[in-house]
Amino acid sequence: MISAVVMSEPHAPLELRSFARPELEPGAILLRTLGSEVCGTDGHLWKGQLAGVPYPIIPGHVSVGRISALGPGEAPRDVDGVPLRVGQTVTFLDVYGTCGRCWYCTVGHATTRCPERKVYGVTLSASDGLLGGWAEYIHLKPGVHVIPLPDELDWRAFLSGGCGMPTALHAVTLGEIAFGDTVVVQGAGPVGLCAAVLAQLRGAGRVIVVGGPEARLAAATRFGADTVIDIGSTTPEERIAAVREATAGRGADVTIEATGVPSAVPEGMRLTRDAGRYVIVGQYTDAGETTFNPHLDLNQKHLDIRGCWGSDVGHVYRAVQVMARYGRIFPWTDLITREYGLAEAQAALEDVAAQRVVKALIVPRQT
Ligand SMILES: [Zn+2]
Ligand SMILES: [Zn+2]
Repeated sequence: MISAVVMSEPHAPLELRSFARPELEPGAILLRTLGSEVCGTDGHLWKGQLAGVPYPIIPGHVSVGRISALGPGEAPRDVDGVPLRVGQTVTFLDVYGTCGRCWYCTVGHATTRCPERKVYGVTLSASDGLLGGWAEYIHLKPGVHVIPLPDELDWRAFLSGGCGMPTALHAVTLGEIAFGDTVVVQGAGPVGLCAAVLAQLRGAGRVIVVGGPEARLAAATRFGADTVIDIGSTTPEERIAAVREATAGRGADVTIEATGVPSAVPEGMRLTRDAGRYVIVGQYTDAGETTFNPHLDLNQKHLDIRGCWGSDVGHVYRAVQVMARYGRIFPWTDLITREYGLAEAQAALEDVAAQRVVKALIVPRQT
């Protein structure tokens, strides 16, 4: 039997349940889980803050595993088109079932808005099998986008960014940072920290991270942020003044919001210079409303605001390449505060919700 963590409904304690080894259909893959991330989304799932979740679910959307078995017939191929083999270490895009035929997929070129999309660990039910990462094995359905990890990228290093790395890569790409730009990142969770790193790789002249708590700001500094501003000991006015002071009175060229707090948005508009760019990626779930002044904060300001929700396979593929190449500079695994076994998943969830950890991993630790 195969053990997996099951979230039966919001607010209910997580349980360990046993599953039968799945029958693999042609094109399917059975992955022996090496590790899976714990992130803010898992906390939102547990609090019932995401719509359309088919509880019970097995949480865990970004995972790495070793291919244990392939379905009958021709081997499925990776994103590069190369046939996959038993024993390979791979990750996969958590989004499955994007149709390729709807308006958003074909005309809008915004696959994250495809109504058919399902997400491992989020919108796939445990009643349908091992479709989440907090389990000894994961059943990859035919058509799941699989990306092998290069030899130089350790699986823990890849998971240390979790979904934060592809999400930040998407946001930073939309930010179109120019060489020498001053970039402000609001939020020092995994998305914010990854955005601070990627901004450097895009040639930012200065990276300022606004967030907390202390341990996360220390990580931002270790990963190359030039300045950190603790939200715990400053007011929004003081933060705006500090950023203006650092930019000859203008404000940031590009600001990336990665907080999840609605009031951070008008603040971010004011942290950004006139005719600058503001990318909002942290409002992934509905945390409520906020107000801003449309004349001062947007229109007269010529502010370019871009929303960024979710990632597609290109973002994960590029995240793998970037993390493999720049592991020589950035000590990715330093972001991992703690690893938890399957039986400790509840503690992992609570530690992430309380921001006691930078990154938490679920590691099934099978023999
Ligand atoms: Zn579609
Ligand atoms: Zn995540």
